[in-house]
Amino acid sequence: MQVPPTDQTVSDENNSGVRRVITGLGASGGIVIGRAFVLDRQIVHVSRKPISQDAVQAECKRLHDGVAESIDQLKRLKSQSSSAESAASEELGFLMDAYIHMLTQSRLVRGAEELIVSRKLNAVHAVSEVIDAIAEQFSGMEDSYLAARATDIREVGLRLMRCLIGETDRAMDNAPQGSILIAEDVSPADMARFEPGQLTAFVTALGGAEGHTAIMARSLGIPAVLGAADIVRGVAGGDQIIIDGGRGEVILSPSDADIEHYTQRRADWLAAREKLASLRDVPSSTRDGIDIDLHANIELPIELAAALENGATGIGLLRSEFMFMNKDYLPDEDEQYEELADIVKRMDGKPVTIRTLDIGGEKLAVALQDEIVSGPNPALGLRGIRLSLRKPELLEAQFAAILRASLHGSVRVLLPMVVNVHEMTRARQIYEAVAKRLRKDGHPIPETLPPLGAMIEIPAAALAADTLARDSDFFAIGTNDLTQYTLAIDRTDDQVAGMFDPLHPAVLRLIRDVIKVARERDIPVSVCGEMAGDPRYVPLFIGFGLRNLSMSPVNLLLVKQRLRRLDSRNSEHQANRVMEQWDSARIAMMLDDFNDLA
Ligand code: PEP
Ligand code: MG
Repeated sequence: MQVPPTDQTVSDENNSGVRRVITGLGASGGIVIGRAFVLDRQIVHVSRKPISQDAVQAECKRLHDGVAESIDQLKRLKSQSSSAESAASEELGFLMDAYIHMLTQSRLVRGAEELIVSRKLNAVHAVSEVIDAIAEQFSGMEDSYLAARATDIREVGLRLMRCLIGETDRAMDNAPQGSILIAEDVSPADMARFEPGQLTAFVTALGGAEGHTAIMARSLGIPAVLGAADIVRGVAGGDQIIIDGGRGEVILSPSDADIEHYTQRRADWLAAREKLASLRDVPSSTRDGIDIDLHANIELPIELAAALENGATGIGLLRSEFMFMNKDYLPDEDEQYEELADIVKRMDGKPVTIRTLDIGGEKLAVALQDEIVSGPNPALGLRGIRLSLRKPELLEAQFAAILRASLHGSVRVLLPMVVNVHEMTRARQIYEAVAKRLRKDGHPIPETLPPLGAMIEIPAAALAADTLARDSDFFAIGTNDLTQYTLAIDRTDDQVAGMFDPLHPAVLRLIRDVIKVARERDIPVSVCGEMAGDPRYVPLFIGFGLRNLSMSPVNLLLVKQRLRRLDSRNSEHQANRVMEQWDSARIAMMLDDFNDLA
C-alpha cells in the first residue's frame, strides 16, 4: 500500500492573515492543502531533585554546554533565514540575535548558575526558576513592548531546557489525522513515530534534502519542504496552508485563486500517480531487452506494502536502524529476529538485503548515545561498521538475528561505511563464529551462509574497490554518503544543501569505476543511494553497465517507466559523452536532453 496523501478538506474560509509564500528545499514532491499542526515541544516535567555538593561543578558545565547548544541552534536558524531575503526573514534574524543576546551575557545564565551553587538545584530546575522570575517581572510592566519580552524569555528558556534534557515530550503524538506538521526540525526518529495517515505533509525550518528525514518523507510519499526558516513564525495551529513539496513552496493564508489552482494541480499529481500504477506488473527491461532489477529501500516496516505494491522485485537496502529508534534499550537477538523474520517472510522468497546497524553521524539511537555523540565530528566518527566492530556484542546479536531470519527466505547481509578490507575480514570472522554458535545451540540456519557485502559509500572504498572485492560477496553503492564525503558537503546541513551535487564528475567517476571493478570481478553490484530513484539518472547508470537499482518505493514506477524507453547501447554512448564533461550543470543539461529525446 502506498501511503496515500489523505484527502484534505478544502475549505472556503481562509486564514485571516496576509497571504505569504515561503520557500525552502523541495525535499519530497506532491501537493497538499490542509491545516497546520504546529509542533510545540513543551517541557512537561521538570525534575526537582537536588544535587550533591560534589555534582555542582558538573551541573554548571552541563548548563554551559546547554547554552552553547542553544546558541548554535539559534545561529543556524538565523543563517537559514538570511538566505530567504524577505522582510519576515529579516525580522526573524533580529529576533534570533536578541535570543542569542539573552543567552550570552545574561541574567538568565548567571541566575541559573547561582541557584545551582547556592541551592543545589539541578540545571533544568534552576533555569526554570530563573525564567519564571524574569518573565513575571517583565509581564508586570506597563510598557506593552517590554511586557511582550516575557514571552521571549520563556521561549529562550524552554529551548535551553530542551537542550539540557536532551529530549522532548511526545507533543507530536497529538497531531490529528491528516495534519501538516510545522516544526523547527524533525528527526528520523520523530518520523518513525507517526501513524499512517497522521501526517500528510511537513515543513521544517532546518534540515537538508539528502538527510534521513527527507529520505523517509520520500519513502513514505509524504510531501515535505525543509530548510524554510520563516516557517517558525507566522503559522498557528489550524491555519490553512498549501505545500508544494516538489517546488519547495509553502503558501500561508492562501487566496481562493491559490486554492483553486492547487486543487487542480493536486488532482493532476494524483492522476499521474494512478497512471503509473499500470506499470506495476510489466517487466522492468530496456527496449533492447536488458532486464534490470528494481529493488526497494526500506526504512520502516510500514513501507514494505508500498514496495510490493509498486512492483519491487526485492529489498536492496533494509536500513536496520528502525529497530533501535525510539527505544532507550538495545533490542536483543530475539527481538531483532522477530522483526526481521517478519519482513523476510512477507517478501515471500524475494531477496532481502539487510544492512547491519548504521547508527552514528546523523542517525542516532538513544541507547547508544553516549558512545556516538561524544566525537567532535560525528559524520567522521565512530559510526557504521566501525561502531559495530568496536562493540562486537552488538554485531554478534545482529548477525545472529539475520542468520536466523534468513531461513525464511532469500537474504543478503550488507555492512555500512566499510573503508578497508580488514573490516570485511574481521566482520566475516565474527559472522562465521556466530553461525557456528547458532548451529551448536541448535538454531536452524541455512547450510550456505547468506552473502556478505560492502556498502561503497566512502571515497577510499570506491577508489580501492578492487581490494574490498577480495572479501566482499557483493557491493551496494551508497551515493548519499559517497557524495557527502567526496565533496565534503554535510548532507543534512541546509546551509550547504545547494552544493550537494551527485553529478559532480568526481562522484560520477567513482560510481562508474566501482561498477567496472565489480563487473570485472563478477561481483553483483547495485546503487542504493537516492540517485537510484531519480529517473533522470537512469540512462547514466544503465550506460555504466549497472543492472540493479534500489530506491524509495515511491520512485520504483517512475524509474521503470524511464528505463523501458531506453536502449542500453544508446545509454552507454551517452554515458561516455557525459564522462568527458567537467561541469555538472552541463552534465545535467545533457541528461535532460537525452531523456527528452529517448
Ligand atoms: C547512502 O549513503 O547512499 C546510503 C544508501 O546509506 P544511508 O542513506 O542510509 O546513509
Ligand atoms: Mg550511507
